[in-house]
Amino acid sequence: MANKGAATGQGAPVRVVIVGGGTAGWMTAAAIARFLPGQASVDLVESEAIGIVGVGEATLPHLRAFIQRLGIDEAEFMRATSATFKLGIEFRDFGAIGDGYIHPFGAYGVDLADVGFHHYWLRAHHAGHSRPIDEYSLPIAAAHAARFRRPPEDGDFLDTSFGYAYQFDATRMAPLLRSYSEARGVRRTEGRIVSVERDGESGDVCAVTLENGERIEGDLFIDCSGFRALLIGGELDEHWEDWSHWLPCDRAAALPCEAADGPIAPYTRATAMAAGWRWRIPLRHRVGNGYVFSSAHCSEDEACSAILGAVEGTPLADPRVLRFRAGRRRRAWVRNVVAIGLAAGFLEPLESTSIHLVQMAITRLIELFPGRRVEAADRDEFNALIDLEYDRVRDFLILHYHATRRDDSDFWNHVRTMDVPEALERKMALWRESARVEAYHEGLFLEPSWVAVYLGQGIVPNAWDPRANNPDDATLNRSLDDLASEIDARVAAMPLHDRTLATIAARAA
Ligand code: FAD
Repeated sequence: MANKGAATGQGAPVRVVIVGGGTAGWMTAAAIARFLPGQASVDLVESEAIGIVGVGEATLPHLRAFIQRLGIDEAEFMRATSATFKLGIEFRDFGAIGDGYIHPFGAYGVDLADVGFHHYWLRAHHAGHSRPIDEYSLPIAAAHAARFRRPPEDGDFLDTSFGYAYQFDATRMAPLLRSYSEARGVRRTEGRIVSVERDGESGDVCAVTLENGERIEGDLFIDCSGFRALLIGGELDEHWEDWSHWLPCDRAAALPCEAADGPIAPYTRATAMAAGWRWRIPLRHRVGNGYVFSSAHCSEDEACSAILGAVEGTPLADPRVLRFRAGRRRRAWVRNVVAIGLAAGFLEPLESTSIHLVQMAITRLIELFPGRRVEAADRDEFNALIDLEYDRVRDFLILHYHATRRDDSDFWNHVRTMDVPEALERKMALWRESARVEAYHEGLFLEPSWVAVYLGQGIVPNAWDPRANNPDDATLNRSLDDLASEIDARVAAMPLHDRTLATIAARAA
C-alpha cells in the first residue's frame, strides 16, 4: 500500500516518485530536496524520447522568491536560461483594434487615505484633467523606455511600487534545476514508463515500471507528466473540468525567431488576432513568438501562415503546433498522487500563469507534506487552495476576451457575447457601478491588475469612491502632474535594460 513505505519506521523518509522532468518536475524535485532534506527521498523519471513541452517563457514576479529560496543566485539563473527582465505585459488590440495598454507588475500612483489611486484618477479624468493612467506607473514608463533597474530595497514608495519577473528559455530551466537537484540527492532515471501498479488493498499507486523492466516503488507520486497526465488522468481517471466554452483557444503555433535589432523590451507583448492572440517574448538570444488560437475559428494552416506573416525577425524553425484544452482536474491530489503542472490543468499563457501555478502547488504541497500517511484533511485543503487559484486566474483571463468592443471576427463576437462565470459577472458589475474591485488580499491578480485590464480595455466607470473627493481639484491636479514628472525623472535615471543585461552577462566572464 502506498504510504506503508513511509510508515515502515518512525521518521523513515517518504519515498517520492516524480513522473516527468519538465519545468514542473524539476521545480518540484528541487524544492523537495531543498526544503525537506531527510524527510523525503526523491526519484524522478523522465523520457528523453517523449521530451518536454519546451514552451513557457514568460513568468510572474513570484518566481524570483522561488529562485531565491532555493539559494540560486539571480545572475547565475539569468545567464543559464538566457533570461531578460519583465516589467509586465503589453496588450494590443484587445479592447478595440488600435488600443493598447500595459498590465504592469505594480501599482499605479500612490493610494491615499486607503483609497486606491484609480479613484483619484477617475475623478480627474472625468473633470478632463488627467493623462492616461499608464503615465502614473513607474514600471509602465520604464517598459516604454526599455529601461530597467531592480527596485532598491531602501527606496521610497515609487521606487518600490513595482516588482519584476523574467522571460527565459523554457528549454534551459529544467537542466539548471536538474543539476541543482541531483547535487542534493535526487535520483534521475531516464526511460519511458509503460505501466503503473496499484496496491490491491488500498488502490493507491505503489510503483511504476519502465520500458526496460526497471520498477520504481514509492509512497507519494507526483504526476508531472505534462499533457499526458499519466497517473492522474491515465491511471486514476480523475474528471477533467472543461473550460473551453469560456476559453475557446485550444492550439498554439509556436515560432522562435532570431533576436530583433534594437533594444530588448523588458516586457512581454500579447497582440490580439482574428481567432485569438499572439505572444512576443524577447530573450537574450532569440524572440519567442506564438499564435494561440481557437481551432473552431481558424485552421492550423491558417494559424501557421498568420504567425509567419506577423513576426518581425527571421524564423529559426517552422511553426510548431501544440494542442491543449482549457480546464483542470476536478481534484489535483487524489489518493497518493499529486498532479502538478500541465498534468493538473491548463490555462492559456495570456497572463503567464502556468509556471506560477506550478510554484504555488509546490509551496502548498510542502506546507501540507504528508508524513506516515496521506491525511484526507491535508489533501482536501490542498485541493481547495488549488481550485481557488485556478478559478481566479480563469476569471481574470476570461475578462481579457469578454471586455472587448471588437466585432470584426466570429471569434471576437463569440467571446464578447458569451456567458461568463457568475463570479466574474458580479465583479464586472461592481466595477461598472462603483469602480470597486472585489477585494481579496492574497493570491494572484490583486486590485491593480484588474484595474489595468478594465481601464486598458475601455471599461471606465462614471463613479469613484467618495473619499477620493478630497483634496480640492487644484491640489489633486498638481499632485498628479508632480507624480507624472517624478516618474519621468526616475525612469530617465534608470540604465537601459540592455545595459543591465550586459552587466549580468559580463559578470560571468
Ligand atoms: P512537460 O514539459 O510536458 O514535461 C512532461 C514530462 O513528463 C517530460 O519530461 C516527459 O518526458 C515526461 N513524461 C511524459 N510521459 C512519460 C512517460 N510515459 N514516461 C516517462 N516520462 C514521461 N507557462 C508560463 O508560465 N508562461 C508562459 O509563457 C507559457 N507559455 C506557454 C505556451 C504554450 C503554447 C503552452 C502549451 C504552455 C505554456 N506555458 C507557459 C505552460 C508551461 O509550458 C508549462 O506549465 C511548463 O513548461 C510545465 O510543463 P510540465 O513540466 O508540466 O510538462
